[in-house]
Amino acid sequence: MLVLSSPSGAGKTTISRRLLERDANLQMSVSVTTRPMRPGEVEGVDYYFIDAAAFRRKVDERALLEYATVFGHGYGTPRGPVEQALGAGRDVLFDIDWQGTQQLAESARQDLVSVFVLPPSTRELERRLKARAQDSDAEVARRMAKAADEMSHWAEYDYIIVNHDIEDSVRRVEAILIAERLKRERQIGLHEFVRALREGQ
Ligand code: 5GP
Repeated sequence: MLVLSSPSGAGKTTISRRLLERDANLQMSVSVTTRPMRPGEVEGVDYYFIDAAAFRRKVDERALLEYATVFGHGYGTPRGPVEQALGAGRDVLFDIDWQGTQQLAESARQDLVSVFVLPPSTRELERRLKARAQDSDAEVARRMAKAADEMSHWAEYDYIIVNHDIEDSVRRVEAILIAERLKRERQIGLHEFVRALREGQ
């Protein structure tokens, strides 16, 4: 489970998209949310958009691996697709906030790799949020105010990337993925492989 967190506008969504294009063994976890759909977003690709009652039901049925309230809306990770992907030996990429990351760490620390993406500067963060132009001015102001809060959690993450350049940041996350996949405990079947090597097979 690879988690990418950052304040809105730091570039995490673009990094995620490029990673998924390049890595066939990686699949995105599509969250449910109660927030309204933005222009250009696609149901089932960006999110599953559901109402507050349906969100509550999912929480009650324990159908969410983690969930949190962000900007006044419910966000959560459907459990089924993640368990299915992990069971099939695939890696799963999560674009979730620090609250969700903490919950995943509580339930599966060994399987979790967390990366926090920081913007190069406050000014650049504001520029990116405005350039995105998907949110109203009031929403941009609210997200800027929230950014400082979110960034206070950087030290809870395994890796920190300052996103000066998207392509460079993507390469860094790829390097993290490669190294983490090579960790001894993640290489299933290694005992058998080495035994066979030692026995000259
Ligand atoms: P946005 O509304 O801009 O798509 O996302 C707002 C924030 O919610 C982002 O920081 C994003 O990482 C976070 N988020 C998205 N999906 C989930 C989720 O399933 N769980 C949690 N905890 N946070 C989420």
